[in-house]
Amino acid sequence: MHSKYLVSLFLCLFFIRANSQDQEKAILTTFHSISSHDLLNYAAELSSEKYKGRLSGSPGYAAAASWVASQLKQAGVKPCLADGSFFQWFPNAYCDVLTPGSLTLLAGKDNPEKEYKFPDDYYPGSNSASGTVSGDVVYVGFGISAPELNYDDYSNINVKGKIVLMETGVPYKSNDSALQKWEPYSYHRYKFQRARELGAAGLLYVSKIANPNTSYLEGFVYAHIGEPVAEELFAGTGQKYAETRAAIAKNIKPNSFLLNKKVKISASTNYFPDSRSCNVIGMIEGSDPILKNEAIIIGGHLDAVGSPGCLFPGALDNASGSADILAAAKALASSEVKPARTIVFVFFGGEECGLYGSEKYVKSPIWPKEKVICMINLDMVGNGTGFHLGNGKTFPEVLNHFSEANDKYLHRDLKASEVHVNYGRPRTDGAIFEKGGYKVLELSTSGTVKPVYYHAPLDNADALTPEIMEDAAKLLYLSILDLANDQGIGVK
Ligand SMILES: [Zn+2]
Repeated sequence: MHSKYLVSLFLCLFFIRANSQDQEKAILTTFHSISSHDLLNYAAELSSEKYKGRLSGSPGYAAAASWVASQLKQAGVKPCLADGSFFQWFPNAYCDVLTPGSLTLLAGKDNPEKEYKFPDDYYPGSNSASGTVSGDVVYVGFGISAPELNYDDYSNINVKGKIVLMETGVPYKSNDSALQKWEPYSYHRYKFQRARELGAAGLLYVSKIANPNTSYLEGFVYAHIGEPVAEELFAGTGQKYAETRAAIAKNIKPNSFLLNKKVKISASTNYFPDSRSCNVIGMIEGSDPILKNEAIIIGGHLDAVGSPGCLFPGALDNASGSADILAAAKALASSEVKPARTIVFVFFGGEECGLYGSEKYVKSPIWPKEKVICMINLDMVGNGTGFHLGNGKTFPEVLNHFSEANDKYLHRDLKASEVHVNYGRPRTDGAIFEKGGYKVLELSTSGTVKPVYYHAPLDNADALTPEIMEDAAKLLYLSILDLANDQGIGVK
């Protein structure tokens, strides 16, 4: 080879190397601008009293959505709804729980009257009617009438005018095709309607979490209780609560009976059937004239469970994921190295009410589905020391970008799992996208270091580990930028 060619080859390689060194330097500048301090502030803001627990459909949620939109706008992330806004609206009824209400065990043959305590013993129902009901307590197991499955919790018992004591879920646990037959009976709304149809006056639900994914039924008052209260209601029956429940599930055989206890449930609520809620959606347009037609979606739910009796801040679930996405959006928007593909950020509403926001998006996508590389869903990404990428193993072409960024700059434990068919009801916004035909990876934190207070008043900013949130935002920034600029992958 002529020496002149050698010199120009050398110069050429030198420039490529210098250029990529400059690029890396620029990327690292943005990388280092992501701080745990900011991440904690975002999560603390969203978990604060002013948004009242971000109940989808309520003014508190709408205020939180406006705050997120203003943050995106400030960062230069563009609105992408046809009306020029960040908000994609959908109908979303909601119920304002005004006080903790009360739950009383009424005096009986073997027991004195007892007032249960909020929030230690019970939570008021998130969609309870307002008023007071009282009556005999009937244990109805899972509260399911499924003739085709030869299973009926109500076959031998009259619940008219009574308070039913009921389990969540179904008495079938394996995730196989048989579970599919139970799926319609796994919804809280089905269970409530069935009890109401049979004339029950009220309900005690054995699952002490706040949960707006239930039905508001006129005159139907209910509360959530913990197992100790259920155990107490079983006293004197000769059966233990936990054993009874386990036997029903094990044998798939109902065991409903009248307990020798009376309770009174009071609730004070205000129902808004015609309310609406929204997803907050913003985007960073790709810098490449061709590749910008392809998009990567990053999503997570912004809503939480509101203030049923007191503030349920929803910090880990899911102010943490929302904060991670916001910080990553800011980093990607300010990055000197631009993403070639378009990046769409979706903060979902209505997740806790039954995945309304992701359903809305999948039905009315703002980006053509066939031009979406993948959707990354973040739920509860703020307590731990490592990361988990659900479905990641099935999509190594996406996972690799996360693993490389982690190996090179973050050194956290990062594990991934394969896609597995879920025969039960979908439980995450990611599952709705999956059903809609998208390639979905679910990012969460692993190696939990603080207690998890799920749908509980203590799920506040103190329950978060800001360092992992910083690293989640950094991981998103690096891996999404890399994925957005990867020439080797595409939508086909
Ligand atoms: Zn969640």
